[in-house]
Amino acid sequence: MKSKQQQTACLRCGTCCQKGGPALHGQDLALVRDGHLPLADLITIRRGELAHNPLTDRIEPVTQELVKLRGTGAEWCCCYYDPASRGCSIYRNRPVACGVLQCWQPELTLALVGRDLLSRLDLLAEDEALRTLVLEYERLCPGPDMGEVERNLADQAENVLSTLEEQVNRDLAFRDRVVRELHLPLALEMFLFGRPLFQLLQALGVKVSEAPQGLRLALPREGREGRRR
Ligand code: SF4
Ligand code: SF4
Repeated sequence: MKSKQQQTACLRCGTCCQKGGPALHGQDLALVRDGHLPLADLITIRRGELAHNPLTDRIEPVTQELVKLRGTGAEWCCCYYDPASRGCSIYRNRPVACGVLQCWQPELTLALVGRDLLSRLDLLAEDEALRTLVLEYERLCPGPDMGEVERNLADQAENVLSTLEEQVNRDLAFRDRVVRELHLPLALEMFLFGRPLFQLLQALGVKVSEAPQGLRLALPREGREGRRR
């Protein structure tokens, strides 16, 4: 196998697509407006969520909201990747980040990171009812800084868990209400509101269980003891 230094062209291995869909940039706006990238195929990463920062190669809270192509499976493979042909099923209409990606010389990709990112409000018209819904959600369920949440869990898990439990259940109640009352297609949920808070907490090791009064949060025993050390 060629090393990255020897590589001069794409080998069509699919690794970049299997690692997850790209963030959308200003140049991709027309793809969404023209219907090539339906909102149901997008997911929002809200400010404060933890994500890999290619510039620092670390998992960090994102400093500005971004909208990505939805992933599938545990590995978050891009929803447009076709494993049978090992290719992109929307090649002619792929986002700009895919067009510049050359894994053997990542400079063009790195130059795009954090620049001219599209957010939910960029993709919703001023008079669109969904825009009002996104703003209402942000007001009632602002996304916490997950880096801070992680540190707080390490320091004082019990107090923090009860506050988080309240936020988790408020978040779910909002989502349930809009799906039920406005008949919002479930497929739009990840674009409009991003991932539910309980899923973000599960990624930090928080255990989530159902109870009659709502979701309950707990830290695994070993996690709690480990955090105290
Ligand atoms: S750009 Fe690189 S990782 Fe992506 S398909 Fe081509 S060779 Fe594979
Ligand atoms: S849009 Fe196409 S090229 Fe871009 S990550 Fe998805 S499958 Fe790969």
